[in-house]
Amino acid sequence: MITRRRLLKTFCVLPLVVCLPGFGKAANIVEFSKLKGLYAQRLKKILAAGELPYIDIESSCNSTNLDLDSLAKSMDRHNIGLMALSADIGKGQFKKGVRFDRLSEQLLASYPDRFIPVGNGGQPPALTEAADEFLDAQEAAARTKQIMLLGEFEFRHYPSPRQVKRNELERDVHIPLDGPTGHRVFSLSEKTGIPFQIHYEVEDDLLAPLENMLTQYPQAKVIWCHLAQIRYLERASRYTPTYVDTLLKRFPNLYFDTAFGDSGSIYPLSNQRHARVWANDGSLKAEWLDLIVASPQRFLSALDLGGDRLYRISEYDEKHRAFLQQLPPETRHQVAYRSAWSLLFGEEFP
Ligand SMILES: [Zn+2]
Repeated sequence: MITRRRLLKTFCVLPLVVCLPGFGKAANIVEFSKLKGLYAQRLKKILAAGELPYIDIESSCNSTNLDLDSLAKSMDRHNIGLMALSADIGKGQFKKGVRFDRLSEQLLASYPDRFIPVGNGGQPPALTEAADEFLDAQEAAARTKQIMLLGEFEFRHYPSPRQVKRNELERDVHIPLDGPTGHRVFSLSEKTGIPFQIHYEVEDDLLAPLENMLTQYPQAKVIWCHLAQIRYLERASRYTPTYVDTLLKRFPNLYFDTAFGDSGSIYPLSNQRHARVWANDGSLKAEWLDLIVASPQRFLSALDLGGDRLYRISEYDEKHRAFLQQLPPETRHQVAYRSAWSLLFGEEFP
């Protein structure tokens, strides 16, 4: 029997991937223009059915423990258009010397119509214990056109709510954004034109280094993940919709993704409702809504699924759609897929 996967392998993947000699183990060049055609077809098919597709610009997983077919089915069930699913290099892989996880290649081999090839998550131990080797590997993939996107790089990251629950408090990361690692990442984006995602908690003291880096690397395309996710309000007096608006005006290559909790979500270490876009009644606060409506091309859909929560995709989808639903229709379509499309391909969605 010819399975769907075999059909795709025969007809799609062969022309998509070209062997590139001279890179040790043969490296593959993904033909982005062909992917773009498949992506557009998928998004348009969902739109034609009267549904809203979105591009999840930021999710991650453990590649050694991924049920790909089940994820692909969930994407169909929920009309999720595309997903940038990065592999986090786990401790076990890291110990074995893995510095680049080739998950994207596997994703495209099976489902080239829905996964955006992305580098690996920059988190401990890869980015904290072997930053140079890790970034060498990401850079090689970027330069040989194996990926369209980099990240998410964790420069400042408090333990996640789930890690607090598991008492795993070691993921309290602080890599100076204006230190050597930061310079390397910003410079790589500037040279290759490839956008990257940062996880950068909102703290007053961290804003000046970010502004300095954005000034120094005006061509770097930066996605600051988790709009208005503030874990400790007392540390973040400057971050307001007005402040974000000034950043957007000063830095044309700065984007924000909209992966944040719902209105009831509480950050356990501060006991605060950390998704600050919400009013008490669960509606978007007018000032955040106005900001998004004023510059919708700078905001991106994102689910922020992770290796420990891929099975919760229905719940994450539902919450994200509840957010999108509160946007005016034109803004909704822009944030859902048009913004990511323009960022990735440098042109309007066809
Ligand atoms: Zn993050």
